[in-house]
Amino acid sequence: MTIDLGAVAVDRGIKYFLISYADLYGTLRAKLVPAAAINGMAKSGAGFAGFATWLDMTPANSDMFAMPDPASLIQLPWKPEVGWLAADLVMDGKPVEHGPRNVLKALTAKAADVGIEVKSGVECEFFLVQPDGAAISDPADIQAKPCYDQQALMRRYDVITEICDSMLALGWKPYQNDHEDANGQFEMNWDFGSVLETADRHAFFKYMVKSIAEKHGLRATFMPKPFPKLTGSGCHAHVSAWSPSGENLFDDPSDEIGLSAFGYKFIGGLLHNAEALCAITNPTVNSYKRINAPVTLSGATWSPNTITYSGNNRTHLIRVPEGGRFELRLPDGSANPYLLQAAIIAAGLDGIANERDPGKRLDINMYTDGHKVRGAKKLPLNLLDALRAFDRNKDFKAAMGDAFSSSYLKLKMADWNDYACHLSAWERETTLDC
Ligand code: ADP
Ligand code: MG
Ligand code: MG
Repeated sequence: MTIDLGAVAVDRGIKYFLISYADLYGTLRAKLVPAAAINGMAKSGAGFAGFATWLDMTPANSDMFAMPDPASLIQLPWKPEVGWLAADLVMDGKPVEHGPRNVLKALTAKAADVGIEVKSGVECEFFLVQPDGAAISDPADIQAKPCYDQQALMRRYDVITEICDSMLALGWKPYQNDHEDANGQFEMNWDFGSVLETADRHAFFKYMVKSIAEKHGLRATFMPKPFPKLTGSGCHAHVSAWSPSGENLFDDPSDEIGLSAFGYKFIGGLLHNAEALCAITNPTVNSYKRINAPVTLSGATWSPNTITYSGNNRTHLIRVPEGGRFELRLPDGSANPYLLQAAIIAAGLDGIANERDPGKRLDINMYTDGHKVRGAKKLPLNLLDALRAFDRNKDFKAAMGDAFSSSYLKLKMADWNDYACHLSAWERETTLDC
């Protein structure tokens, strides 16, 4: 059924639509289209010069069109006269293969081919910082163990509740908000859904949090590790897989941690492909200062260092908090919302197809006792290692789409090379007098 967006606009008082897509970095790009023109745009798409954003294109390429998905419509809670629409990228009459939303749709189709629908919920931690980004916004937020700090949470009541009220109005079913483990850091949780719905909401959530923070004279950042001694911002993904008849295929009450044989194979795939996965889940130079990090001021980084899994234990890459789902603790705030979900499916399907055995669960505190475990694999130590692992993993690249994988690697290798040409203050301080 096609939705008449022009009629929706009249009905809901929408004056403008943002036709929006995420580029390879996950940055949202948009055109602001008056409601009077939306039905034409919905048919032909909004035109963009793809090269002008972070996509693998040249200035000589034909126009790229962003085709809005009417099902994704979100009326901006803080400016209801604007309707946001997630869009799929098309060029020369064909889907742009490396368009992140197209990549995710291709992976959901592959999952459907083997009879599963993957559902996910994400925990997007963020910091509220000063507008120049140099320090956290609240000078009184100084506790050594600031997690769940009621006083600091309530000093940001106006911002947090404006965001939570927005999620309530949008029907996302938010259920809790807290001060997180770093000074200045917060987390807000809403209900899980289909991976496409969650990816769209994840992308929109980042936009919404930044916009509402700006309204309050603050700045929100999802940067993985903005302050070296404080806990970084993760973006844990919780995952379950469902049959067409609505049965949770990861659920087995007879298992010690409630995970089915199917679920074990799926996490076996994630562990097997973890090093390559990092290129997607931890896509920035800064990402590697959150994982493999030394202990933070709060006493723990809460992020993984090793490719291991456990039951309800937060010191491993994968936690199984209860039956029927697992938590991937690897991703961080810089992950592209669409590629994150696509990569989880790609790795999980590999686990199913190849019956990957995740090995034995570890119930130890991996931060303090990890050294006692022989053979526990470490995560890549930097972005270059992760990109090389991704490049070596031909099956994973094929599962993500070869065209996507080569475009992505090109962009991220250029990032690494740019970083490698950069001289840091630390380098000068430690090497000037050599
Ligand atoms: P924690 O901090 O303990 O890791 P949160 O409550 O912050 O957990 O986040 C849990 C996330 O997992 C939420 O987005 C929630 O909706 C989601 N979730 C719960 N059950 C499932 C499930 N069966 N499949 C996928 N996601 C789920
Ligand atoms: Mg949480
Ligand atoms: Mg979590």
